[in-house]
Amino acid sequence: MGKPTGFIEYLREAPTEIPPSDRIKNWDEFHVHMPDENLRTQGARCMDCGTPFCHTGNLISGMASGCPVNNLIPEWNDLVYRGLWREALDRLHKTNNFPEFTGRVCPAPCEGSCVLGITNPPVTIKNIEYSIVDKGWEEGWIIPEPPTKRTGKKVAVIGSGPAGLSAAAQLNKAGHWVTVYERADRPGGLLMYGIPNMKLDKQKVVLRRLDILEKEGVKFICNTEVGKDLAAADLLKEFDAIVICTGATKPRDLSIEGRELKGIHFAMEFLTANTKAVLNGKSGDDFISAQGKDVVIIGGGDTGTDCVGTSIRHGCTSVVQLEIMPKPPETRAKDNPWPEWPKVYKLDYGQEEARAKFGDDPRAYITTATKIEGDEDGQVKAVHTVQVQWERNDKGQFIPKQVAGTEKVIPAQIVLLAMGFLGPEQPLLDSLGLERDPRSNVKANHGQFTTSLPSVFAAGDCRRGQSLIVWAINEGRGAARECDRYLMGDTDLP
Ligand SMILES: Cc1cc2nc3c(=O)[nH]c(=O)nc-3n(C[C@H](O)[C@H](O)[C@H](O)COP(=O)(O)OP(=O)(O)OC[C@H]3O[C@@H](n4cnc5c(N)ncnc54)[C@H](O)[C@@H]3O)c2cc1C
Ligand code: SF4
Repeated sequence: MGKPTGFIEYLREAPTEIPPSDRIKNWDEFHVHMPDENLRTQGARCMDCGTPFCHTGNLISGMASGCPVNNLIPEWNDLVYRGLWREALDRLHKTNNFPEFTGRVCPAPCEGSCVLGITNPPVTIKNIEYSIVDKGWEEGWIIPEPPTKRTGKKVAVIGSGPAGLSAAAQLNKAGHWVTVYERADRPGGLLMYGIPNMKLDKQKVVLRRLDILEKEGVKFICNTEVGKDLAAADLLKEFDAIVICTGATKPRDLSIEGRELKGIHFAMEFLTANTKAVLNGKSGDDFISAQGKDVVIIGGGDTGTDCVGTSIRHGCTSVVQLEIMPKPPETRAKDNPWPEWPKVYKLDYGQEEARAKFGDDPRAYITTATKIEGDEDGQVKAVHTVQVQWERNDKGQFIPKQVAGTEKVIPAQIVLLAMGFLGPEQPLLDSLGLERDPRSNVKANHGQFTTSLPSVFAAGDCRRGQSLIVWAINEGRGAARECDRYLMGDTDLP
């Protein structure tokens, strides 16, 4: 523990970001590095608790409490306080292959379970993680480290999101030859074509790490959908094992009047085409512009937030985000105690930008769409909404009941559907004849990751359903460990 009285002496200092009204002018990342001296002070606030809840990564009430990859947080807080950055980086890489991704985009369940958070604002864990790894890159400490010995075993990883990448990194480290198949034109999964560039830079951050993996010996084959361009049965013959990391990419649809109108898109269509345009320096045929349009986003979660930030950068005229759930309280409710994930009101980056541009948080809470109205050309014109009240039905389930007299009509020339995902796409899983769980995910226990086929493992959103980057990394690492055990009879992978 760096400074025993640090938590008494120092206040939490949140990381700086480029002001919303400036950053909406471009697609650059908006995180700003904190000076080393301030980071030291923030590291000194860590109490090095006897039981560091921050690194436990348990599920409580269905939500993560603590870090799902079990980052050794108190240890690197102390190392940062003492100025031992290189050692802090090594400690961070022990548990997390890609801290530069989580340090930027993780919602930080670690901070929600920080013991200091019971009485004071928690330690700025996420920002310290981000700063350690970025220093590692700046100093040139992160270099390719190919394995010294090869086992001769070959593993195919299907899908190159954070689960596939962490599985590939670990299996390669164990000496296996790893080939990653990706149907998109660039690897990265939702790190590449989900999370927008201003939150996670593709060129400077995602591709930089992919380059290291390639130099370490991982082979990437893009533009190849397994099950369509390449038979899964061929992979079974060619490789000693397969790790499926295809994500939960089936979007939830909306079945209301007017759904067929032009101008209604799934959020991922909008976000993917936008990132492609940013990376290619020109818009493709699939580009959906929000410029000069009123935008209604249906879904108040993170995907919806990314649509808000993207629409604003396009130059939309207005943006409204419909959220069917009530506005969360400002502080923890009684039934949401520490160390649970704090379900409290937050102004995320997109909403902050909307407030700077249009004067208010764009979210309309306890509000749902009832109908989408079109013009004479079949183009969307407005969204009809109503407020709801959550009530228990005869079976004790909470259901939304429409409140008469709260109807509104919101102008919209673009409607984006961001209502979550319904699990993995099924054709590849069908072609392998894999067992599924009741939610259509690949059936495999967390910790074992073995599917109904002995040489096939599954990790990430295709196994657990739509989740977080940090859980995908946890699962990719776990699947790699079990795959290595299957191939070699034993494993040294964590
Ligand atoms: C818009 C958006 C924003 C998000 N923002 C955050 C955030 O800020 N922080 C956070 O922690 N989480 C965020 N998430 C969730 C997070 O991105 C996912 O939980 C995580 O990416 C899951 O990782 P994965 O590797 O399991 O799958 P994915 O990242 O979905 O990757 C799966 C990959 O498999 C490929 N694939 C699918 N089928 C095949 C096939 N048959 N052959 C070859 N390739 C195939 C897909 O093209 C894709 O590239 C966000 C999700 C979305 C949709
Ligand atoms: S990965 Fe997420 S939960 Fe873990 S230390 Fe980083 S910000 Fe916290």
